[in-house]
Amino acid sequence: MYTVPKLTDYSAKAIDAAVRELLSALEQEGSAVGSESDYKAFRDRWMARKNGVLTQINDLWLKPAPKDAKKDVGQRVNELKSKVEQTIDAAEKRLTSTAVKSKLSADHIDITLPGICRPIGAEHPVIKTMNEIVSVFRNLGYSVSDGPEVENDYYNFEALNFPPNHPARDTQDTLFISGQDREAQRDRLLLRTHTSPVQIRTMERLKPPLRIVIPGKVHRNDPPDASHSPMFHQIEGLAVDTNITFGDLKGTLDHAMKALFGSSVKTHFRPSFFPFTEPSAEMMVSCFICGGSGKRGSEPCRPCKTTGWIEILGCGMVDPNVFEFVKHNGYDPKKVSGFAFGMGADRVAILKYGVDDIQYFFQGDVRFLKQFG
Ligand SMILES: [Zn+2]
Repeated sequence: MYTVPKLTDYSAKAIDAAVRELLSALEQEGSAVGSESDYKAFRDRWMARKNGVLTQINDLWLKPAPKDAKKDVGQRVNELKSKVEQTIDAAEKRLTSTAVKSKLSADHIDITLPGICRPIGAEHPVIKTMNEIVSVFRNLGYSVSDGPEVENDYYNFEALNFPPNHPARDTQDTLFISGQDREAQRDRLLLRTHTSPVQIRTMERLKPPLRIVIPGKVHRNDPPDASHSPMFHQIEGLAVDTNITFGDLKGTLDHAMKALFGSSVKTHFRPSFFPFTEPSAEMMVSCFICGGSGKRGSEPCRPCKTTGWIEILGCGMVDPNVFEFVKHNGYDPKKVSGFAFGMGADRVAILKYGVDDIQYFFQGDVRFLKQFG
């Protein structure tokens, strides 16, 4: 590294040589500056008041200069000072512009790269199935009705012809809200076990004739397994008018099943019991998976358990006792009649999409849900 020599010879030639040597060292060291810390070391080495190169030439060249050379040496030292300052400035500028360039190149955006793809959501298979069922009935002139999921005993049971202590209540493992022992039984809150309370609520609100479908969530105290979930979905329908007959029920549901599962499916009714309908029936559709044969190739058809029929919904003529609860709003059982039906939307989705476990619908696993997008 360059060190400032003492000047013994103050001839112009000797001074020139010393200056040339210093300038070449300055230039070399200045161009070697590559970082912030290099720059600081360079600046301090040349400019530091104590022992910097400029201080040294002042002390070693100017101060001891003989009188007749002093003016000339002073001038050269001043020139060197401004040269050193310029070189240091230049080094700083070069460093800054390199830093800006490297920051720019780090922030550089390649607009030819593919963008970040945000996945678009899709209808959940159960909601999709419910919407399909709703749309079939909308086309028949039905409107959609809605009600609370936290219901009271009156709407969930009593007004649907389940009197207190009716044995049918035991078949519905009801989830009651706790801490209501002091309430009258009909006021006790529960999670609705079916969408049927919305039938009563709607009849209280709207006069006949009435045609509604009621899609929604229901809750029962069922431990989860492949075919049960404590929360599931139902769709119910209700039609009330003068002269509604069981024939209307059959015709409507037969049409709906053909619209949902294909025009070749057949329907079949067998007697059943529900407290709120009389007579009541369970409706079967011919298996749309095996075409009613009970077999898929040489394998037995599991969805219909080889019978060729799938039980799909419960239905019946509205029990006159139910109309008694809404008689004040025009539902006189002597003047009007109606039919009601209800099905599990999850079950329909399971059959439609060949899903073998109802839990898949509610686990939120994107790998499963993606298949319905
Ligand atoms: Zn089958």
